[in-house]
Amino acid sequence: MTDLLPAGIDRVLVTGGAGFIGGAVVRRLLRDTTAAVFNLDKVGYASDLTSIGPNPRHQLLKVDLADAAATAEAVRVADPDLVMHLAAESHVDRSIDGPGAFIESNVTGSFNLLQAVRTHWEALASERQERFRFHHISTDEVFGSLGPEGRFSETTPYDPRSPYSASKAASDHLVSAWHHTYGLPVVLTNCSNNYGPWQFPEKLIPVVILKAAAGEPIPLYGDGANVRDWLYVEDHVEALLLAATRGRLGQSYCVGGAGDHGSPSERTNKQVVEAICSLMDQLRPEGAPHGRLITPVTDRPGHDRRYAIDAAKITSELGWRPGHSFEEGLGATVRWYLDNLAWCGRVQAQAGYQGQRIGTRAAASHPSA
Ligand code: NAD
Repeated sequence: MTDLLPAGIDRVLVTGGAGFIGGAVVRRLLRDTTAAVFNLDKVGYASDLTSIGPNPRHQLLKVDLADAAATAEAVRVADPDLVMHLAAESHVDRSIDGPGAFIESNVTGSFNLLQAVRTHWEALASERQERFRFHHISTDEVFGSLGPEGRFSETTPYDPRSPYSASKAASDHLVSAWHHTYGLPVVLTNCSNNYGPWQFPEKLIPVVILKAAAGEPIPLYGDGANVRDWLYVEDHVEALLLAATRGRLGQSYCVGGAGDHGSPSERTNKQVVEAICSLMDQLRPEGAPHGRLITPVTDRPGHDRRYAIDAAKITSELGWRPGHSFEEGLGATVRWYLDNLAWCGRVQAQAGYQGQRIGTRAAASHPSA
């Protein structure tokens, strides 16, 4: 696609580009634009650059956003026309055991980035200043938990309930404040649960695939009836690039998935786990029925009951619709993980994570954790 970026957007700073969604954004920019892509990432436990590979238009800036001076220097080096801010600690279970890292990265880190970007934007020549945009990538979890009815939209009041979602809500508010107070040209997006290739195997879908492939117990939190809206990562990237370049300044856009024939992509965790097990039965019949491995475990503390997204605004204003149904995306994802078990083993070993249960509050007794 030639018009993925408007004319004059030649230098893009992606934060968190060594992670799951940021990596997909970087790959798409390298594949379908001629822009120079600067990838600011601290290269933490969930990071891996294998999917990006060597490319002369890609430059990694290994920086922790918690370091204000290093962040300012990285923004100076990147000299961006567009910033897409994805870097964040992203796993709810880890935020329960160690909330401090979420405040440092997601709140202080976003603040440091906003300050550095503001300095950069204020010094730009007027033509570049006119084109410049800061896009903040956030989650639907900032809206809290729904009952059986209704969906989140851009006007839903914030009601975060986990350390992760509270830190993301804080960063959303900072971004909005920098727009209203300093005039920084910003766009925000709040997306539902993503899944797809290259996701660090600690979140529901890759964990279930790996446990099923290994013939190990598949943990199902609580009664398994918690509902999430699922979006294939490539569809999220499409929405992000549209919102970043064509979204109205100062606006936020909710982004969510779709099922077969345009049905909603809301699924209970139990439905997701069972769908993976039945795909595994087809792809690895020797281990069937994989459903026998499903093992209920104690629930996540404060587990939000239901998330659902009304994506009407981004559809009507920017023409975005998910290109993959949940069924298509899940099939592609299961096949990808089965073909890339060696990668999973390597990144898990690097991170010192072997699929063990976290986020039960067992490790949260220390007040600074
Ligand atoms: P991820 O954990 O796979 O990647 C995050 C990346 O950010 C990592 O490479 C990490 O090293 C980097 N990072 C974290 N703290 C940093 C810091 N202080 N300085 C520099 N780099 C830092 O996460 P993801 O799933 O790709 O999520 C990306 C963004 O999208 C996050 O902001 C998340 O809140 C948001 N989001 C995620 C989902 C989802 O389902 N994964 C859904 C909606 C929104």
